[in-house]
Amino acid sequence: MKHGKLFVFSGPSASGKGTICRELLKEPDTWLSVSLTTRQPREGELHGVHYYFVTREEYDKTVEEDGFLEHAEIYGNCYGTPKKYALEHMAAGEDVILEIEMQGALQIKKAYPEAVLIFVLPPSLKELRNRIRKRGTENEEQIAVRMKTTLEEIGLLEKYDYFLINDDLEEAIQTARAIMKAEHCRTAGQAKALIERFKEEE
Ligand code: 5GP
Repeated sequence: MKHGKLFVFSGPSASGKGTICRELLKEPDTWLSVSLTTRQPREGELHGVHYYFVTREEYDKTVEEDGFLEHAEIYGNCYGTPKKYALEHMAAGEDVILEIEMQGALQIKKAYPEAVLIFVLPPSLKELRNRIRKRGTENEEQIAVRMKTTLEEIGLLEKYDYFLINDDLEEAIQTARAIMKAEHCRTAGQAKALIERFKEEE
């Protein structure tokens, strides 16, 4: 049976990566991982849907039990991708999508080199700043920290396999779909089985 692939999306806050990932879920056999976090839920966020909101003790216990595919501390809060579900969904032939930041994405690439890392870029820093201001969730000081982090992350873009510029959302979604499709046509890991299939026909 076909084994699913691991697609990791990163990008600055307000780059639109969340919207892109949710759209990709509409594809058949695609599953989005829900992370554990120690941060407080924001208005409208639901336990088990946006995150599993856990205590620091629960998070530490999961680290000790090697229950994360990756985990990282970001802006003073802890986040981690539960290992069990992601592996189960891939084994069942589904593509697994992770929406995580760079430290976690690089841990994934180290442990699973076949994972596909995709970085979602805003059209410009100016546009990113405007989007965050419009959202109204952060003050100017926090926005300045975000911009600094964003620049640092963009500096490491080469560690990713692909980038997407989210200028036009529809186009960005289409590009993401195309990347996923192309990754499924890689000969690596599939050539042998295909050759066998054709030989058997003879
Ligand atoms: P937020 O608190 O705004 O929801 O997320 C902050 C950052 O943490 C975002 O860049 C988000 O993609 C990232 N993030 C969410 N879940 C995980 C996770 O399980 N692991 C890592 N490394 N980052 C995560």
